Parts: sequence; structure tokens; C-alpha cells
Amino acid sequence: MTNTDTADIEGTVAQVKALARAGSELVRITVNNDESAAAVPHIRERLDAQGIATPLVGDFHFNGHKLLKAHPACAEALGKLRINPGNVGRGSKRDPQFAEMIETATRYQKPVRIGVNWGSLDQDLLTRMMDENSKLPAPLAAIDVMREAIVVSALDSAKRAEVLGLGSNMIVISAKVSGVQDLIAVYRNLAARCTYPLHLGLTEAGMGSKGIVASTAAIGVLLQEGIGDTIRVSLTPEPNGDRTQEVIVAQEILQTMGLRAFTPMVIACPGCGRTTSTYFQELAQKIQSHIRHRMPEWRKQRQGVADMTVAVMGCVVNGPGESKHANIGISLPGTGEHPVAPVYEDGAKTVTLKGDRIAEEFQDLVERYIERTYALIST
Ligand code: SF4
Repeated sequence: MTNTDTADIEGTVAQVKALARAGSELVRITVNNDESAAAVPHIRERLDAQGIATPLVGDFHFNGHKLLKAHPACAEALGKLRINPGNVGRGSKRDPQFAEMIETATRYQKPVRIGVNWGSLDQDLLTRMMDENSKLPAPLAAIDVMREAIVVSALDSAKRAEVLGLGSNMIVISAKVSGVQDLIAVYRNLAARCTYPLHLGLTEAGMGSKGIVASTAAIGVLLQEGIGDTIRVSLTPEPNGDRTQEVIVAQEILQTMGLRAFTPMVIACPGCGRTTSTYFQELAQKIQSHIRHRMPEWRKQRQGVADMTVAVMGCVVNGPGESKHANIGISLPGTGEHPVAPVYEDGAKTVTLKGDRIAEEFQDLVERYIERTYALIST
């Protein structure tokens, strides 16, 4: 999801482009006022002109019904609408405003993600369910009622969208919460009770390693159980940080679980007392960045390159073994070893590098390995 002001057409196009280049297959943008709704078709146009076909998902809250009515070109330009049933209106306004948005989606044949978030859960529904629960002979814990309310909000809204004329094959559900165990419980429940595609994501996951670990723990468990069709990793970037980090983490979750391959994986040992300098960490980082930088071109040109593994190892203990398992690997010299770095390709030692250009030479070997091994994609 972008974090630019959508009304800033240039900034939003640049960020969508960066996210798409990193591998994002859907990009959500905020549509919160007339200016941003008016900007959406221009953003779409500019992306198309640059050959970027990544669909845009419009994120609507509170005034989505008004914006979609006033800006039909916005609805047309979007690939999907995200509607939060907790934020479509309170009391008697809720149902007609929800209906207006679903009617727009039906008219323009746009899929809808019913996106429940427990930070904005339908308060009328939650209050009613809490009241009903309190009258039971053995009331459930409040957290269980909350989890059930999230599921009910999503399923009731999806059913209502169907009654209003949206095809069941045009509906995706998400029910995001910020606790790992809550997310797992809610999605297991949803998966057992409906056949709509499910979009997974831990909301408000946080910054840095905490956000990455929490998202991976929650999404990983669900994916392992076969639950989930699309994923988003919601990371709070550092000020002016790189927004594409969340795309990379999402890809790495899928790739390390063996579900999909996006980019060659670098296998690097953690280093220990046998590594004499930071050289091998630097080499691992250089190779990783080089691969990320080259991948958008390789993806278009070379069939199967995403499945490649590259090993960068710190010493003779596990270096040769791990390098032999990889497509191409290098075993750098540890403490007391000869200052040479044998390279292995498809399990066999092919060359030994030495001197101060090991990084550049290994990078060249990776390039040549790719040219030799992965067939050109015919266009
Ligand atoms: S391969 Fe060598 S340097 Fe790397 S962690 Fe193992 S023993 Fe340490």
C-alpha cells in the first residue's frame, strides 16, 4: 500500500512504480477526498503509459459512497474497491451507504474486498453481540466475542453484497487484527465458514524486526494450513524509509516457505569466531543487492531464474557443503585458512578466486551462470 497523498499524482505514480518493480502484484491507494478520487484516473493513465499494469485497489472509508458517485472515472480506473464495513456509516446510514458502494462495484464490474479491521469494527454489531453474550448462562470471554464479531461483520457484509447483486466470485474478505494468535483464530474460523478468497495481513504489525517477525509468524501458520490467497505485510517504515520493504518481506515469506519463487535466494551463514573480518557479510550484502537490482530484467528475460540459490559462506566448516547444495556458491577463507575462495557451480568446484576483486569476480560468475543456465524468454 502506498503512503503518499493520492492527490499527489507524481509522488503516487513513483511509489506505485517502485512497489511494482519490487514485485507487488496489487497496490492499494487511499481514496479519502475529492482530490484523491479525481487523481486516480490520471495515476492509472500515467502508469499504463509506462507499461505498468499493476492493478490499483482503492481504499474507501466514511465517504466512499459519495466519492464513487461524484467520480465515476475513479471507479472505472480502479482494479478493486476495498470497503471497510465498520467505516461505511453509523446507524440508519450504514446500509444505504454500503449499498451505494456495492452498486458502483457491480456497475463497473469491480471486485470488492470486504476489509474488516478490529480497530474500526462495526460498533453496533459488537455492542449487540456483547449484550447477547452477557445474557448467556456461560458467557464467552470478551476476546472470543470480539473475534466472532470480526468474522460475523465480514461474512454478513459479503452476503449482503451478494444480495445487492455482486457476484460471489467478485468478493474477497480480509479481517485484520494486530495480535498473532487473534489473527490465526479469526482466519481459521473464516476459512471454515466461507469459500470467499481470503486476503491475509497482520494490521499495525509495527516497525523493523518486530513487524516482520509478527507478520511472518501469523501469516506463515495460516499459509501452512492452506489458508490465504493474497497477502500484505503492513510495516511501519522508518521516517523516509523504503516502502518496498513490505513487498520484499511478503515475497520472502512465500519463497522461504516454498510456495512461490520471486527472486534468487542468497544463503549466507551467520558468521562466527572463524570469520576474520566483515568481508563475507559485505559480500553477501553486495550479492543480495545485485540480485534485487537485476531481478526486474532477469524476470522478463530468463525463465526459472527466481528458483536459483546462491550461497555465500564464511569458512571451510560448512562453506563447501552448502555451496555444493546451491546453484552457485562461494566459500570464503576463515581464520587460518589460505586466502582463497573456491566457487562451486551445480555441485562441482569450478574456480578459485583470490585477491581484492573477489566480490566483482563472483558477481560476474553469477551473471554468466544465469546466462548459461536459464533460457531466454521469447517475446
Ligand atoms: S560456515 Fe564457518 S564461518 Fe560460517 S558460521 Fe559456520 S563455522 Fe562459522
